[in-house]
Amino acid sequence: MAQSVLTIDLAALRQNWRSLSARTATETGAVVKADAYGLGAGPVARMLASEGVRRFFVALAEEGASLRKVLGQGPEINVFSGHMAGDAALLKAAQLTPMINSIDQMLRHVESLPGHSFGIQLDSGMNRLGIEPSEWAALRELALSQKPTLVMSHLACADEPDHPMNAHQLREFRKMTDGIDAPRSLSATGGILLGPDYHFDVTRPGIGLYGGAPFGDALPVAHLSIPVIQIRDVAAGESVGYGNAWVARRPARVATIAAGYADGILRAMGPKAHVHSGTSRCKILGRISMDLIAVDVTALPAAPESLDLLGAQQGVDTLADAAGTIGYEILTGLGARYERRYTGA
Ligand SMILES: *Cc1c(COP(=O)(O)O)cnc(C)c1O
Repeated sequence: MAQSVLTIDLAALRQNWRSLSARTATETGAVVKADAYGLGAGPVARMLASEGVRRFFVALAEEGASLRKVLGQGPEINVFSGHMAGDAALLKAAQLTPMINSIDQMLRHVESLPGHSFGIQLDSGMNRLGIEPSEWAALRELALSQKPTLVMSHLACADEPDHPMNAHQLREFRKMTDGIDAPRSLSATGGILLGPDYHFDVTRPGIGLYGGAPFGDALPVAHLSIPVIQIRDVAAGESVGYGNAWVARRPARVATIAAGYADGILRAMGPKAHVHSGTSRCKILGRISMDLIAVDVTALPAAPESLDLLGAQQGVDTLADAAGTIGYEILTGLGARYERRYTGA
């Protein structure tokens, strides 16, 4: 079989949630948008619900509706994009809580779903989503009288602890929300690490659960093992792959493995990336193809049956660095062709 195996270690994920939860004295939710960052919202959310998570966060109402089928009644499912035109039936049927982002959304919500739960998303300076301070001044009394389940905002620079934007957004958020009754939430993974001033009543970690920076203590969750299809010896001067991009300077042994950029293994990481056989590091040679990658296995004592791209030896951030991107993009880009296996549930 040439299908690669993506193993998702739910025990590691559970431990990451516990470690992040232990850093705060308040409620810890979980962000499972984009299919739990590519790792499978169903198994991930089921495990987290059994761990006691009571607030989940997704980007779209449609994601929330799928998640509701997995979770059943009970846990709150919050939708970051808020209440969009056409969402009312879905929000109602799946009992989703939209995070209202504008006056328009607020009016749409109270008109189409009076009495239905909602939260408020405020803009504290990121200028991406949320109600602006001036709008909030106008809307605040009406919104709070309808008892939002959560009032939240999002930090733009939380992965840089010394960035002055963090304190600035904290001040803005406090100005807009100090004294209200509703529970408040400001922090994702990065904000949790900034300390208690940033924790408020509920936190919303995503990437830290899935083993990525900025949570330095995260255990790796994704393990990707790619079968070797063929091994050959090449002589000095011979080339490997498209464009003859790699040429052997000395005799080498080359393994061809069964995954490529169609599986989310970005072409851009090629020149800097490695795979592992156990603890031995093997260099990727030449260009990454759609379904295939060539690897230098000259130094290995025996022909490997498979090689690991993600795991204990190499995490999502190392791979992201090789491609000049972030762990989030590596995880959410992992393709649909892998067999996904879940361990440690
Ligand atoms: C994605 C997202 C999160 C989770 O962020 P991480 O950095 O992955 O922990 C939290 N809140 C909002 C509004 C988000 O968009």
